[in-house]
Amino acid sequence: MAVGVLALQGSFNEHIAALRKLGVKGVEIRKPEQLEQVGSLIIPGGESTTMAKLAEYHNLFPALREFVKLGKPVWGTCAGLIFLANKAVGQKTGGQELVGGLDCTVHRNFFGSQIQSFETQLSVPELAAKEGGPETFRGVFIRAPAILEVGPKVEVLADYPVPSGKLFDSISALEAPQENAGSEKKVIVAVKQGNLLGTAFHPELTADTRWHSYFLKMTSEVGEEASSSISVAGGE
Ligand code: GLN
Repeated sequence: MAVGVLALQGSFNEHIAALRKLGVKGVEIRKPEQLEQVGSLIIPGGESTTMAKLAEYHNLFPALREFVKLGKPVWGTCAGLIFLANKAVGQKTGGQELVGGLDCTVHRNFFGSQIQSFETQLSVPELAAKEGGPETFRGVFIRAPAILEVGPKVEVLADYPVPSGKLFDSISALEAPQENAGSEKKVIVAVKQGNLLGTAFHPELTADTRWHSYFLKMTSEVGEEASSSISVAGGE
């Protein structure tokens, strides 16, 4: 079945281009009923508050939650990861609606603002094991979130050791500054929980299509287990 790409805002075209390189058609999703035509979904990066407002406007949240609940593979990159998280912290004002399903807490702007965007080599042994190639992957972090906590069913695929001396405001806000001084702090930047995949960075902005290929393999291995272990947001 085709792969859907939520196309409300953000880097959906780049995801579609990456899928095309792998010979797969990405279908733009803007309306709830369009989700019925796809077997899996990518939620791109962008700006999660704007994306949430647009999703609400198009009445997409119930259908997105149902999609996750059915155990269909969903990959959230950056703002998409925020969408999938059960809990998001670090909003400047108020909250925002989430799809949920991924048992983790994300900090929305952990790595700071646009000017603090950066690229780094991440170590991702799972990606190399499944897709071949180097154990490292070039992570493009743009106003990026980070995962602060994960539940027991979440597999950590990559973390990022924040270099000492490079303290983001969000870290010092979380812990006493003296505890951080000169020490390294790791945050989680890629996770998998059953059929849900989340990356805090943007693989669609690199030439390396291994994450897309990894996700496509997940879509062909849809299992029962994931659907029974997922509870989505809402109804609280
Ligand atoms: N931090 C951004 C947000 O809150 C996400 C940035 C991105 O997707 N590149 O939406």
